[in-house]
Amino acid sequence: MTALNAARERAKGSRDADLKKHISSLYDELLALKEAVLRLTDENGQLQRTIAEQSRPAEKREPELRQVGSANFYFDGNKGPCCQPCYDSKGTLTVLTQPEDWGGDVRRQCVLCGEYFYEKPQEHRRHQAPSVGPNGWMGR
Ligand SMILES: [Zn+2]
Repeated sequence: MTALNAARERAKGSRDADLKKHISSLYDELLALKEAVLRLTDENGQLQRTIAEQSRPAEKREPELRQVGSANFYFDGNKGPCCQPCYDSKGTLTVLTQPEDWGGDVRRQCVLCGEYFYEKPQEHRRHQAPSVGPNGWMGR
C-alpha cells in the first residue's frame, strides 16, 4: 500500500488528469481486493475449523463390540452388525447380511470372509447340561 499511497500523493500535485484517474481506480481496486482476501481468509479459517471438528470424532471413534445371541458383532453408529474377525484381522468393517432363519436359528453371513454367525444360541447347546463338575448330574 505504501508505494500506491506515495503515487497517489504525487498524483495530487500533478496536472495529469488521466494519471490521477488511473491511480484512484487502482487504489479502489486494491481496497476491494484486500476486502476480498480478508473475507476469504475468514471463510477459509471457518472451513478449516469445521473440517477439524468433523474429522476429529471419526478418528477417535472405535466400533463398539456387542454380543448378540452367541455371536459378537461390531457396531459403528448406525452401521452394523459388522463381522468381528474381519475387523480384528483386517480392520475392515463389513456389514453382515440380513438375518436369515436357519432351522430355528437366526444367522447372518459375512460377505467378505463367508463366515456364518448365529444370533440365537442353538437349542441343543442351551439345554445341554454339563455331566461332570459341580453343576453336572454326576457332581450331585
Ligand atoms: Zn468377515
